[in-house]
Amino acid sequence: MKPARHPPTGAACPCGRLSPRGQVLAYEACCGRYIEHLDRQPAPDAEALMRSRYSAFVRAQAAYLLATWHSSQRPTTLELEPNARWLGLQVRQHHTTDAEHAEVEFVARYRVAGRAVRQHERSRFVREEGRWYYVDGDVMDKTEGDG
Ligand SMILES: [Zn+2]
Repeated sequence: MKPARHPPTGAACPCGRLSPRGQVLAYEACCGRYIEHLDRQPAPDAEALMRSRYSAFVRAQAAYLLATWHSSQRPTTLELEPNARWLGLQVRQHHTTDAEHAEVEFVARYRVAGRAVRQHERSRFVREEGRWYYVDGDVMDKTEGDG
């Protein structure tokens, strides 16, 4: 038996990805494979990378976020909002432009300082030497409310 860690083994992945049979994947079977094994197991496509970056935000894994950010756009440091509560991710579209470029459109929802935020974004990804990187994104819609 391994000692208990947070989140417990088998807990649902924050990104909410479903298995082909429609069951929510465990973190270890989903984004955890990439976040915990960055050097050995890079995300195989832009959607997997985007989902793992969302999960890394949820789990405050700043090192993973920086490592998967394309060097042309990567910030020097990353200040994560400590009080954000992430509510869910919905991937709307995964569009492969060519073998090395892709776009992912998604909606992320979170709460911060009592406000509910819904952010609809289209992000660009590039593949270099077999690894996908987040480049940048266009916020298509961002709404805030009390709910
Ligand atoms: Zn996941």
